[in-house]
Amino acid sequence: YGNEETSRRQGFWSKYDMGDRLGSGAFATVYKCMEVSTGTWYAVKDIARNRAIGVHVNEGALMREINVLTRLDHQNIVRLHEVCEEENNLYLVMELVEGGELLHYILQSGGLSEGETCRIAYQICQAMSYIHSQGICHRDLKPENILLTRDRPPNAKVADFGLAKVVEDDTFLKTMCGTPAYLAPEVVLRGPDNRYNDRVDSWSLGVIVYAMLTNSSPFIENEELPLRERIEGRKINWTPFHYHDSYCVSFMRALLDTEPSARLSLTDALQHPWFRQFRLTGDNED
Ligand code: ADP
Ligand code: MG
Repeated sequence: YGNEETSRRQGFWSKYDMGDRLGSGAFATVYKCMEVSTGTWYAVKDIARNRAIGVHVNEGALMREINVLTRLDHQNIVRLHEVCEEENNLYLVMELVEGGELLHYILQSGGLSEGETCRIAYQICQAMSYIHSQGICHRDLKPENILLTRDRPPNAKVADFGLAKVVEDDTFLKTMCGTPAYLAPEVVLRGPDNRYNDRVDSWSLGVIVYAMLTNSSPFIENEELPLRERIEGRKINWTPFHYHDSYCVSFMRALLDTEPSARLSLTDALQHPWFRQFRLTGDNED
């Protein structure tokens, strides 16, 4: 898989005008840029700039992201336009998603309506079901890595495949990566069960749905305890849904099952009655 060399072109600076900074994460800074020949705006992930300021760049993770993104074609996944390699910089030119991170949208609105949450969850599910069918899992799903379009209501596009991994190759998944708040317990505790690797994304989506609805984390946490004990003893705070016994709660419960083999896969999740309740099944934007 992914052995075909991604076409690497030179001349980022001759082809693009660099614009404002859009955001940054653990590995990279992302800027707006305009393709001069077409006037089209894109987002560019500039890798070497970080190396210059001393942040460790994981070349393996980067190459993985390029290989993964090159293979993917889905309306709810950020598209890769081209990769430009300059002497000390690698530029991933991607589709520009202009509505900001889901994280900011949640914080700004103080929690989304159930209808809007359901719509975004369904789009993420479609994207994840697609990548799982390609033998890939994302492994770093969180509201910072879900981007929104400017449409109202907004559409979701999954970004940041820096930690994504082809599922069959299990060695890397055993290394603990990702962000504990959204990370499935089995990954933190013992490395995922290879048969159920894609269920790490199910868990993360469960946490994201909870966060969208409540603007808070589902976990009752004792910050004093070491990470392992915090995760082993993890309890989910269902009190915000005490009087709200509905499909969205059963959806979250099915995703936030500690046992990966019992946890709902995101392909099966597409058939959940919650999505039927909001008439999303079979719905496709565009
Ligand atoms: P990292 O691996 O460093 O976390 P990301 O790919 O998550 O890098 O990008 C960091 C941030 O840059 C994102 O959280 C988002 O705010 C912004 N960003 C990334 N890709 C795009 C894009 N295609 N369009 C708009 N903003 C983006
Ligand atoms: Mg990120």
